[in-house]
Amino acid sequence: MALIEASPPRADGRRRIALRSPATGAPLGEIECATASDVQGAVDRARKAQPGWGAAPFRERRVILERAVRLLVEQAESFVDVIVDETGKPREEALAVEVLAACDAIQYYAKHAGRILRDRTLPVHLMKTKKLRISYRPLGVVGIITPWNFPFLLALNPTIQALAAGNAVLLKPSEVTPFSGRLVLRLLADAGLPEGVFGLLQGDGETGSALVEAGIDKISFTGSVETGRRVAEACARQLIPCTLELGGKDPMIVCTDADLERAAAGAVYGAFANAGQVCVSTERVYVVDEVADAFTRRVVEKTAALRQGPEGETDIGPLIHGPQREVVERHVADARARGARVLAGGRANPAFGGVFYEPTVLVDVTQDMDVMREETFGPVLPIVRVRDEDEAIRLANDTRYGLNANVWTRDKRRGVALAKSLEAGSAVVNDCMLSYGVAESPFGGRKDSGIGQVNGEIGLRSYCHAQSILIDRVGAKREFLWFPYSRRKGRWMQRALRWVWGTPLGRWLA
Ligand code: NAD
Repeated sequence: MALIEASPPRADGRRRIALRSPATGAPLGEIECATASDVQGAVDRARKAQPGWGAAPFRERRVILERAVRLLVEQAESFVDVIVDETGKPREEALAVEVLAACDAIQYYAKHAGRILRDRTLPVHLMKTKKLRISYRPLGVVGIITPWNFPFLLALNPTIQALAAGNAVLLKPSEVTPFSGRLVLRLLADAGLPEGVFGLLQGDGETGSALVEAGIDKISFTGSVETGRRVAEACARQLIPCTLELGGKDPMIVCTDADLERAAAGAVYGAFANAGQVCVSTERVYVVDEVADAFTRRVVEKTAALRQGPEGETDIGPLIHGPQREVVERHVADARARGARVLAGGRANPAFGGVFYEPTVLVDVTQDMDVMREETFGPVLPIVRVRDEDEAIRLANDTRYGLNANVWTRDKRRGVALAKSLEAGSAVVNDCMLSYGVAESPFGGRKDSGIGQVNGEIGLRSYCHAQSILIDRVGAKREFLWFPYSRRKGRWMQRALRWVWGTPLGRWLA
């Protein structure tokens, strides 16, 4: 079912996209796509506004961030309405993972960004006559391009961080969920953000591409590997930095000593929350043979208890983007054709008119199936039995992705050791998916899952240039190394070389 459709061109020649609800098919309205010249105009406005914003003391930016938290608390229900209308996700999920998580993120940076971005003075290890200061300077105008699966949080969180660091921001939300992007504009405008510091550019890939090419200072991109690669190529050509938060194929490892009740509940939540459309959804389970039957039985029971539907008290909503159901159907069909068995679900939900797919559990799955190799991004949980934990780690790492992973064992120390042997940007022991939601935790993938990290100190500082400022402390008329060179200076340097790096005491002092 096509949920987004190009509207017929109008007299002004501008492109428009009409949207419909993935839960019911009801029309939601339309957006007008920003053209390359609209994008350029927005960049010019942002360029004018940024120096004032970047030069203001952080406490002025903090006032606006704190006001945004208060407004979001007051207006939470109306924000949830918009998010639920265009994604179909359960209200409780929208409230928890979009609105509560957004409040937490804004409040965290309001409270901590001043400290994280404060100038730091560092002792210099050798040149004791110099002092080093690190100053986190804003980059200028940052472009933020976001996907449809958490359309409010994933647009708001990087926006807040880039703004807190003193940048101007241009946001291009997904054309599949543009109205949640509009919420970011409404929130920041109502919170009193100065004119021009934030701009919203609606549109599809063409608008996104125009933003990447518009001469800005950084791109923060969240989306698929294929688009991420195109964005990275464009950034490389222009020599601008980019952070790429891309797809995943997250493994779950269930050890023999795992609490099977908790692990099974965690598998069902990790695979089916947001209908499996989380970049850190659990997309592959490796369970040690000894406990595989007991674990799988529990997973199937818990899956059978899930409620799916377009409204009311439900657990699982629809797929948000129509074509995603074709990917899910293709992966399940491929798995079946190659011998996998379906223990739950396995089909589009016939009870509803929207883009629903039943939560699906697969067994007798092998590593070569599409459902184990490509990102499914839907409610499908393939379970693989393994001999032991070593085999689980080997198979978990046998992928082009490396976003997140989870490990289940009662032995937490062993859990951490197993987590370290996973080629994943982040990992969770005895829980799942959490990594993006903990503000202190740097988040970013390895391999095809991305470049760079968002969130926490590392993420916030990635919206700055760490400028090093070296200050002479002594004020001598000239430095030893300055002209003129002489044989005598050479002999001094030889002596220093032998003493500083040639003796244990010298190496210790250096
Ligand atoms: P997508 O790559 O199709 O689109 C993402 C954004 O890029 C959209 O706003 C789109 O309009 C824009 N875009 C498309 N072509 C472009 C171009 N040539 N130049 C610039 N922008 C362009 O991804 P999607 O389908 O919206 O999102 C789903 C994907 O996002 C999944 O792979 C998921 O795993 C990933 N994701 C990753 C994270 C993470 O933090 N790692 C979080 C959420 C989603």
